[in-house]
Amino acid sequence: DEMFGDFMGGGRQAGNRGRAGASRGADLRYNMQISLEDAFQGRETQIRVPTAVTCEDCNGSGASKGSHPTTCGMCQGRGKVRAQQGFFTIERTCPTCNGTGQVIEDPCQTCGGSGRVQKEKTLKVTIPAGVEDGTRIRLAGEGEAGSRGGGAGDLYIFVAVAPHRMFQRDAADLHIRVPIPMATAALGGSIEVPTIEGKRAKVTIPKGAQSGHQFRLRGKGMSVLRSQARGDMYIDVVVETPVNLSKRQEELLREFQGEKPAKGESTTSPESEGFFSRVKELWEDLTD
Ligand SMILES: [Zn+2]
Ligand SMILES: [Zn+2]
Repeated sequence: DEMFGDFMGGGRQAGNRGRAGASRGADLRYNMQISLEDAFQGRETQIRVPTAVTCEDCNGSGASKGSHPTTCGMCQGRGKVRAQQGFFTIERTCPTCNGTGQVIEDPCQTCGGSGRVQKEKTLKVTIPAGVEDGTRIRLAGEGEAGSRGGGAGDLYIFVAVAPHRMFQRDAADLHIRVPIPMATAALGGSIEVPTIEGKRAKVTIPKGAQSGHQFRLRGKGMSVLRSQARGDMYIDVVVETPVNLSKRQEELLREFQGEKPAKGESTTSPESEGFFSRVKELWEDLTD
C-alpha cells in the first residue's frame, strides 16, 4: 500500500564537479503524512518518486552505444579557457563543452547526451515506531542520479503526524478528554476508554470524581523511538451536567437539593459552599 505524500524536487542543487563532466545529483524532499497510529506502531511503506536516474543505454556516459565521450579539444579537458584581454588573462567556462571537459560527438538517443533519464522509482521506506512530527528520514543515494557518472543525491522524507480525533500527544504521553455523567462522577463507577493500539482499557472512577481530575494508565502511551519503553496515557475527566431532564428527573434533583446533611455530616458541595462563604466574608470586610 502506498502512503499519501507529495514530492518536491531539489533540496540542494547539483553541484561540486569532481572528475571532468561529472556532477552530483540533487537531493530530493518527500513530504509524508502519517496517522498517530502509524507513528505508534511504525510501518513499512512504499513511495513513488519521480526522479532522474542513470540512463541504462549509455550507463550514464551520455555517448551512444559503442562510442565514448572524448576530451574537449578546445580546453584540453579542463572545462575552462583563457582569453587575453589587454593586460589581463581571463578564465571562462569553455563554450564548446560547457565546462564539462568532454565532448560527445555521437550522443545517446535515449537521454540526449545528459546520461540521465526521468523515471518514477519505487522505494521501500521504514517508518520507525515512536516517530515524532517533523522527523526527517534520510535515504542516502536515493536522490537524483548524478550526471555522467557523478554521485547520486540523497532523498529526505519529512514526516508529519496528523492530529488525532481522540488523543493529544505530548512527546511519549497521550492525553484523552473523557466526559463522564454526573451520577457516575458522584457515585463512582467504571468507564471504558480507547487505547492507541486499538483496544479498550477500563478505568475505575472513584466516588466524588471532579472535572479536571486526571487518571493515569501507565505504559499505555506512545512508543518511544529506538526503545522498548512506552509513555503513559492520561485521562482528563470532565463531569457533564445533565441536560434534557424529564419531569421525574427534575423532581428527583429538587428532592436531592432539598436534602440537607444531618448535623455532624459533611456537606455534599464543599467546594462551592467554601467558595460562597469566602465571598460572604469578603463582602463583610468591605462594609466594615
Ligand atoms: Zn571544453
Ligand atoms: Zn543515455
